[in-house]
Amino acid sequence: MPTPRILAAVATALLVVWGTSPATIGPQAGPPPPAAQPAPLDAPAPGALTPRNASYSITARLDPVTRTLTGTEILTWRNISQATASELRFHLYYNAWRNTDSTWMRERTLGRGDALNERPERDWGWIDVRAIRRLGADSPPVTLTSRARFVAPDDGNGRDRTVLAVALDAPVAPGQTINVEIEWTSRVPRTFARTGAVGNFFFLAQWFPKIGVLEDEGWNCHQFHSATEFFADFGVYDVRLTVPAGWIVGATGSVRDRGDNPAGTTTHHYYQEDVHDFAWTTSPDYLERSERFEHPTLPPVEMRLLLQPEHAGQARRHFDATRAALRYYGEWYGAYPYGHVTIVDPAWQSGAGGMEYPTLFTAGSAWLAPAGVTRPEGVTVHEAGHQFWFGIVANNEFEHAWLDEGLNTFSTARTIEQAFTPNYAAERYFGGFIPWTFRDVVIDRATDGNRLHGYRPAARSDAQSTPTFRYWPGSASAITYNKTALWLHTLERHLGWPTLQRIMATFFQRWKFRHPKPQDFFDIVNEVSGQDLTWFFDQVHRSSYVFDYGVASLTSREAGGRGFFGEGRDRTFSDRTNSGGRFQTSVVVRRYGEGIFPVDVLVTFEDGETARERWDGRDRWRLYEYDRPARAVSAQVDPDRVLLLDVAYTNNSYTLAPRADEAARKWSLAWLVWLQDVLLTYAFFV
Ligand SMILES: [Zn+2]
Repeated sequence: MPTPRILAAVATALLVVWGTSPATIGPQAGPPPPAAQPAPLDAPAPGALTPRNASYSITARLDPVTRTLTGTEILTWRNISQATASELRFHLYYNAWRNTDSTWMRERTLGRGDALNERPERDWGWIDVRAIRRLGADSPPVTLTSRARFVAPDDGNGRDRTVLAVALDAPVAPGQTINVEIEWTSRVPRTFARTGAVGNFFFLAQWFPKIGVLEDEGWNCHQFHSATEFFADFGVYDVRLTVPAGWIVGATGSVRDRGDNPAGTTTHHYYQEDVHDFAWTTSPDYLERSERFEHPTLPPVEMRLLLQPEHAGQARRHFDATRAALRYYGEWYGAYPYGHVTIVDPAWQSGAGGMEYPTLFTAGSAWLAPAGVTRPEGVTVHEAGHQFWFGIVANNEFEHAWLDEGLNTFSTARTIEQAFTPNYAAERYFGGFIPWTFRDVVIDRATDGNRLHGYRPAARSDAQSTPTFRYWPGSASAITYNKTALWLHTLERHLGWPTLQRIMATFFQRWKFRHPKPQDFFDIVNEVSGQDLTWFFDQVHRSSYVFDYGVASLTSREAGGRGFFGEGRDRTFSDRTNSGGRFQTSVVVRRYGEGIFPVDVLVTFEDGETARERWDGRDRWRLYEYDRPARAVSAQVDPDRVLLLDVAYTNNSYTLAPRADEAARKWSLAWLVWLQDVLLTYAFFV
């Protein structure tokens, strides 16, 4: 097979020279938007939290009837790398839905095999850049439009148009700043990947030409992939959005002013400093609510909620869940710095739910939500939590998605456990219409059954260190979310929460408003714990090893050889009374998986005594023998369940006393585990 490098070279050779033929311009409606004002955004500004090297001044007008978005942006970009830039690279994400041959569509079909590619023509989306100009301080603008071409750095797909490379007229040296004006038109699709429109509901994310990240090694500007998200530098966003008069707008940042226009439209002006993306939503149907988060040691946050009318009764739950995230993430890791956050409750079947953007996120209200079931809270806490892991600590989500999703999934579960009790598992049958609460099944973070359930079938797929966009699409989320949450939770149990909390807080404080890589996290784990845990990360991150310890056999014989009690997994039961003599007990524990982790072995005897052994877990098996006045009742490996990554927990214990009540209890536990599996098969976590 050709290597990706060769494929990319071939694709580059085949690239069609891109131009501005009027045929590629989308439908126009109404007068052009007001001209963008060149932004006085040349960073670094005093008091800036971030480098502010990619700032945008945008004006855009939405025509909801034709689903057309027409925009102009002035990008102020400063080269903060060590490399000289001879070209700029931009993400044009909407082109993922331009045709069925985009990389996003190909991967989506590969991973899920769903019927998205059978959508009618009107449901597709695209973005066309009409003009690109470099603006000079004292010189006339230089048109760069004809210097642009599509590139496909990840897979060489010549039909993919999600990355635009623009050759510059003159290079940009390290430290130098340029201003670039871009005009574009796009068709808003029916929602794909949480951006788009359904009826009068518009959610606009990844909607403007967004510059990639220039690293010392060159441009980091990936194509849009079906299983991964985004990566961008921090900046200031100054955005004017024109929509029909009377429509409600929610956006990253906060509103500065609004003005009505003659043509029955209103322009909403939003502004936000020190963020790396900008998303917005508009609809005439939103209900608006607002509350304030207050805390003795954390700064206040104004919470704005845009709610679907049919969910009017659920405002409290969204606010409470957002408060929980702001509180616990704030106490554990560090303060939310922006002072405001917007919670968007997306329209029914809009497909826009459960997604994070700076200072704004979409929740996921179900139609009916029984009290005591944390499902809407879980989504809201998770997406609010992304303000910290993604929004503030801004890792590359194309390459290391686990770094935000995994840390956030772990943090979500911990917050839910702290803030919402009881936490009943709930499943919605019949397409989500019937809420059903199983009061017997409390999602227990102690066993992390839901995380394990998702991870287990994917455990042997990609090593986590593989760039996320190259994961097998069908198991990408299990490795990104579930596996990370499980190994972090394992670390919590191995090191203790005070240590893990200090690790996470140190990582947050040191890497906020920057772009950390995996090794940056591992270095902090080692530093703060005072241990070299490279052996752990070699296994959980750099390999696809699975962990599985089990008790292979337990026997307990009366000394002298007459009495016999238990044998292997096919044990026979013989109820002998204790003769008062001594008993020889043998326990064999085995390591069935490649993964190695230190585990305890706990043997319990009939007289209530126990023996606890510490096994380094390295050999493939270990025999423990005892000569005691009582026979053994049970043996357990990892009795405290530290190793939550163990893919087969049912073989971890072995019992030699199947009394009648014991049997019933075992049966009911097995039934509960089965039920939990069924529930979680249909549940999903975003
Ligand atoms: Zn997430």
